[in-house]
Amino acid sequence: MNKIKEKADYCLNCKIKPCSINGCPLNNDIPSFINAIKKEQYEKAYETLTKTTILPSICGRICPHYKQCMGSCVRGIKGEPVQIGELEAFVGDMAIKNNYEIKNLSQERDLKYEITRDEEKTIKNSNSIESEDKIKKIAIIGGGPAGLTAAAFLARAGNKVTIYEKYDYLGGLLVHGIPEFRLPREIIKKSIDKILELGIDVKYNQELGKNLDLKELEKNYDNIILAFGANVSSKINIEGENLKGVYGANELLEYNNHPNYEGKTIVVNGGGNVAMDAARSIKRLGAKKVIVVYRRAREQMPAEQKEIEDAINEGVEFLFQHNIKKIVGEKHVQTIEVIKTELIEKQGETRLVPIEIENSNYFMNVDYVVMAIGSRPADFIKNIGLELNERGYIKVDENGLTSKPKIYAIGDLAGNMSTVAWAARSGRNVANQINLT
Ligand code: SF4
Repeated sequence: MNKIKEKADYCLNCKIKPCSINGCPLNNDIPSFINAIKKEQYEKAYETLTKTTILPSICGRICPHYKQCMGSCVRGIKGEPVQIGELEAFVGDMAIKNNYEIKNLSQERDLKYEITRDEEKTIKNSNSIESEDKIKKIAIIGGGPAGLTAAAFLARAGNKVTIYEKYDYLGGLLVHGIPEFRLPREIIKKSIDKILELGIDVKYNQELGKNLDLKELEKNYDNIILAFGANVSSKINIEGENLKGVYGANELLEYNNHPNYEGKTIVVNGGGNVAMDAARSIKRLGAKKVIVVYRRAREQMPAEQKEIEDAINEGVEFLFQHNIKKIVGEKHVQTIEVIKTELIEKQGETRLVPIEIENSNYFMNVDYVVMAIGSRPADFIKNIGLELNERGYIKVDENGLTSKPKIYAIGDLAGNMSTVAWAARSGRNVANQINLT
C-alpha cells in the first residue's frame, strides 16, 4: 500500500490534464483519481474512474500506457512518468475486493465531470431516463470490451440491455486474445460480474448467421449494437501461405488450438502485441526456438516496450528489418525465404518505410509460421445487409451508426483503432448517443 501511495504522490495533479486529454483514449480523469488515492479515498477514486470506464482492473494491466496516458505525462519529460496503469489497476482491484458499486448515471448528477465540454454535455444529458417511455430495449451482439462498455453505459442510464454472446462466457478477446500471464482470468471474471450487477441480461451461445438473426432482432429491439470484433488473421499473400503449419496468431490464441511445439522452431511474423502474445505463449508451450520476424526496427514496433522486453527475457528471439518472401514445403512448412530491409523516409508516411535490399535473401529452416500482421472481420459480415467501408469493416458514421438507422457498430468491427481502450471508447460513445435520443 505504501508503494502505491508513493506512486500516487509522484503525480503533480496537473490542472491541464495532458495524461487525460491527450493520452487516455477514454479521457479518464487521471489527476482526480490519483488525488483520491493520495487521500486514501479509494472508493472515490473508483467513482471518478467509472464515470468514463468500467474496465479499470483490465485497462490498468493491458493498455499500452507508454503510448497512451503515460506517454503524455509531464513527469515523463525529464524522468519516468507516473505509473498510471498500475494505479488504475490498483483502484479497480480495490473495487473488486471491497464490492464498490458502479453507480447509475442518475446517481452521478451532482458529481462534477471535467473532461471535454462536448462529453460533459453528453454525460449530463444522458444522466438518467426521466420517464418509462424513454426506456429503450437494446441488443448488443458480442460481449468483448466494446460491447460490455456499451452495455454498462446504457444500463446505467436505465435502459434494458441484452448481450448476445457467441461463447458460453463473456469477455471476447480479453479472454481468448490476451494470455493469462498478462491478464488473469479471475480479474476478467470479477470485472464482468460487477458490470452485470447493473442488471444486464446475457444470452450465451448465440452467433449471428448461425442461430441469431439480425432481422428478428430488429423487430424486437429499439437499437442493435454490433460488437463482435474482427478476429480473423490477415494474410500477406505470399507463396506457401496456405501450407500446413502456417497459422494465424488470432486463431491460435482464440481457439487455444496449438500444435505440439516441443523441439520445434517457430517464426512469428509481425511486431504488435498480438505477435508478442503469440510468441510468448508458444515459447511457454515448449518451443525450442521462437523467432519474431519484423520488417522494421525495434523502435518502430507497435508492441509495448514492456511486452518486447518480457518476450526477450523469456527467450524469444528477434529478427528485425527482415521480410518473409515465401514459405516453402511439400505439404507442410519446411523453410522460409527471408530478405533484409533498409528503412527510408517517404513523403506522406509517418513511420520509416522498409525497402527490401536486393540479393540479401536467404533461407531458414522452420517448423511452423505464425502470421500476426493484423486482423479483419469474418467474411459473413458481407451478407448481413450492411454497407462495408473500403477496408472491409462495417461502415459507420461519426456516431457509430451503420447504413441501417437502428443498428450501430463499435470496436474492431467498425475498424476502430484496435486497442481495448479505443474499443471501450467507441462503446461508450454509442451508448451515450443512444441515451441522448
Ligand atoms: Fe499526474 Fe502525469 Fe497526469 Fe500530470 S500528466 S496529472 S503528473 S499523471
